[in-house]
Amino acid sequence: AVPVICVDGPTASGKGTLAAELARQLGYHYLDSGALYRVAGLAARRAHLALEPSQEAAIADLARALPLRFDAGRVWLGDEDISDAIRTEAAGMDASRVSALPAVREALQALQQGFRRLPGLVADGRDMGTVIFPDAPLKVYLTASAAHRAERRHKQLISKGISANIADLRADLEARDARDSSRSVAPLKPAEDARLLDNSDQTAQQSVDQVLHWWRQVQPF
Ligand code: C5P
Repeated sequence: AVPVICVDGPTASGKGTLAAELARQLGYHYLDSGALYRVAGLAARRAHLALEPSQEAAIADLARALPLRFDAGRVWLGDEDISDAIRTEAAGMDASRVSALPAVREALQALQQGFRRLPGLVADGRDMGTVIFPDAPLKVYLTASAAHRAERRHKQLISKGISANIADLRADLEARDARDSSRSVAPLKPAEDARLLDNSDQTAQQSVDQVLHWWRQVQPF
């Protein structure tokens, strides 16, 4: 089977940084599954659909037919570069809303599984280990305290010249995690065979080294 490393966890835990760096070092493909839900949310907004169960079928139809392309770290919807539009806090909240709709999750499943190609895949999300790649040989569940996560998100925004308030960011990410954890399908939780990694007091490099160490244990080559 094509090797897969799953990196799941709550908002702003550093999954994206960890998963992308693992993929780079191993020469593997990288799946940012959150981006798919973000694009689905954006497409639904633009179609003036309410992001709620009454529109579930319509949003799922949209999600199934997204003219989506990942290229050199950018995300394209048709011929529009939407990389920045999907990265806002509001887009994250919209993603969380559409991702709670079972038909939308189902609509994006095959697309996600299609990223599993040789030589391997690092998949970043909420349900990579529990639903999308249940047979993955390594599943990491990455966490950090809410305070650390809010602080990191704050730094990220500041570095992009966007001003933000840490307390608001923390409230937003806790609200998003609460929705993601309480939904009926694919709730945010570690897979039974996931290894828990709390990176509150780790540098990005230390987390990468820890996961590479685990990877050498499960995948001796
Ligand atoms: O990881 P990111 O913040 O980009 O994800 C945005 C939202 O998409 C999450 O809050 C979550 O609701 C949803 N999501 C999901 N399943 C995934 C990835 C993301 O439900 N595998």
